[in-house]
Amino acid sequence: MYILVINSGSSSIKYQLFPVDGDQPVCSGLIERIGQDNSRLTHQIFKTGAQQVVKLEQAIKDHEAGMQVLAGLLTRPDIAVIRDPGEIVTVGHRVVHGGETLTETTVVTAEVKEKIKALYPLAPLHNPGHIKGIEVAEKMFLQAVQVAVFDTAYHRTLPERAFRYAIGEKFYREDGIRVYGFHGISHQYVSCEAAAFLGRPNAKLITIHLGNGCSMAAVEGDRCIDTSMGLTPLDGLVMGTRSGSIDPSVLLYLQQQKNYTAAEITELLNKQSGMQGLTGHNDMRDISKLYQEGDPAARLAYELYTYRIKKFIGAYAAAMNGLDAIVFTAGVGENDALTRELVCQDMDFLGICLDGPANKRHDTVARDISYRDSRTRVLVVPTNEELAIARECRMLRSGDHPAT
Ligand code: AMP
Repeated sequence: MYILVINSGSSSIKYQLFPVDGDQPVCSGLIERIGQDNSRLTHQIFKTGAQQVVKLEQAIKDHEAGMQVLAGLLTRPDIAVIRDPGEIVTVGHRVVHGGETLTETTVVTAEVKEKIKALYPLAPLHNPGHIKGIEVAEKMFLQAVQVAVFDTAYHRTLPERAFRYAIGEKFYREDGIRVYGFHGISHQYVSCEAAAFLGRPNAKLITIHLGNGCSMAAVEGDRCIDTSMGLTPLDGLVMGTRSGSIDPSVLLYLQQQKNYTAAEITELLNKQSGMQGLTGHNDMRDISKLYQEGDPAARLAYELYTYRIKKFIGAYAAAMNGLDAIVFTAGVGENDALTRELVCQDMDFLGICLDGPANKRHDTVARDISYRDSRTRVLVVPTNEELAIARECRMLRSGDHPAT
């Protein structure tokens, strides 16, 4: 029996298949450019020990067609990982926005779907794709239980002083305007792994998720007490294409003085800002190369990117009145030694002392990259959101989940 984990976006489906009782996936993959003529599927099989990769390029017109191709691959005789789709007993879905009502991993019901849909205005780029994924999976895996795991749920422990904005209460009560926080599945997974690595369940941690989207969380024990994204995933750190925090007057100025429409500002701040806006590139590998070549725009972009992270570290250390470790994760956090070096530079007042050679050594497992006598540990912990979702599904199945 298996758990299928689905991360369904507006034009993509990421998936992994886990045995119900194991952490090692039997296969994983990504379907991209759904709805275009040149859709692409990369499917990796781990079941036989050796890794096998299948690549397909064909038109996949919608999510339903994508899931059909996936189900076909799972049972295709030469590369089958299951005999029958009925062996999939749970489908776990990543859902970015659960708002204030969906704060625990839950079995998907008609009511849950309505609540996810009611959050479309707050997560227009994410929740519609999740609903598509859920509805197709309901049709395709009839005997499976559909489970939703929310990115916002981990941040439900934020105190009110951290989740409220300094505007009238009615905007919170009537309009739901508050900090929700995102990347919660990753922050939770990485903070648990880091606490276990340190052997200190109550450690004060700052988790730094640096991928295409970037966010940070202040974590004490198993409680998240602050996080950098807000009402939407636009706030906080400088990201691949998103600006992060910006004076709201900039938006008003663009609208009132420069005649930008709301749609143009949304596009500008979400898709054309951040590292993309500063350098013309959003892939950190390209920007890092330009930095090494002395490109001034890349140098400034790295400075802005890492300076913002440093400021959040200072803020969260103050919020927690202490700090045991900072934890880098996700595509940039796990791989880009330059980012880690610049973030940790001149941070010895907080007890952060990076071990330069250890920082530069590439690895794919959790590791400590600080000097032996560094008061604050610097860790790199690979995130694994799919495994975290599979574990949530497993806990819900066994009745061990706090939500049951
Ligand atoms: P994620 O959202 O976690 O998949 O991360 C995507 C980001 O990670 C992209 O901006 C990539 O450029 C970046 N990334 C992936 N591999 C590397 C690497 N080896 N060095 C620097 N950045 C990387």
